[in-house]
Amino acid sequence: MNALTPCPPWLREDGAALMERSRQGRLPHALLLNGIDGIGKRAFAQWLAESLLCRKRTETGACGSCESCRQLLAGSHPDFRKLVPEGANATIKVDPVRELVEWLQLTASEGSYRVALLEQADTLNRNAANSLLKTLEEPGDHAVLILSATRTGALPATIRSRCQKITLKMHDRPAAIEWLSQNMEGAAETALLEAGGGPYAALNMQNKEFQDARELLLKAWKDLFEHKGSVGRISDSLSNLDTSLCLATFSRWALLAVKQEANLPAGADPDVSSVISETRHRLSNETWFTIHDRLLQLHRSDSASFKTQTVLEGIFADIRLMTNG
Ligand SMILES: [Zn+2]
Repeated sequence: MNALTPCPPWLREDGAALMERSRQGRLPHALLLNGIDGIGKRAFAQWLAESLLCRKRTETGACGSCESCRQLLAGSHPDFRKLVPEGANATIKVDPVRELVEWLQLTASEGSYRVALLEQADTLNRNAANSLLKTLEEPGDHAVLILSATRTGALPATIRSRCQKITLKMHDRPAAIEWLSQNMEGAAETALLEAGGGPYAALNMQNKEFQDARELLLKAWKDLFEHKGSVGRISDSLSNLDTSLCLATFSRWALLAVKQEANLPAGADPDVSSVISETRHRLSNETWFTIHDRLLQLHRSDSASFKTQTVLEGIFADIRLMTNG
């Protein structure tokens, strides 16, 4: 049996604001949820969809017992659809979007909302994005489209301009740390810092897959700054990892070098801390900042549509040049 999704506790303010707009009949037809990695866009979008569909909504969202909630729990709600990236390229393709568009034209079965979720909407391919455009303009009565994306810059401007953008932020850090403590072993506060502030990102970092990835990234980082091996070989060693993960991690580590230099609390895994402190003398603080910015910009652009190796090889070559001074 599935369970309904609670609103992430640090996002309750955002949730309450949207519920209020829905009560006043002022909810936009298309929402674009944005925010840093792991802030909880997916959970929030799901919670929002369930709350909008519920017939006896409570203060905290869906009631869990009305007919609509029972259909949601059974995974058979007639007025709810969700699209997620699929296939080897992990993109949202045109056919499912066309079906969704047709479905949205139908009237909601019981005169309530009809809700469509598009997770990681920044992976919509071009044709899929085009198919969505008209619907975003005139979604039909009581239709609500909820898009979520970390890299909104990768979405066509035509899509962005037709959605109301809502940036989810950390409103309640103590609540996030409390939530993390209940869901992980170890120091929740350190994990949250290391993850760059996203509680779900902190949680993902606890799994074996991430730990293995971190080991590869640490080795690549050392080799890069200590001039061991070619940049081609180093970027090859990361070819199985997600580009976005590589860029986000390296950008955090560059910032960590700056923080260590300034004796600021950095919050990092001890293995990471020691590798950074071994390599930070290789560059000036100013150059670390430059590298941090470049990596962050790449991370936020649509670099995920390129191959990991191409993106990484480019930035690694530049870093090598800077390290040579
Ligand atoms: Zn309900």
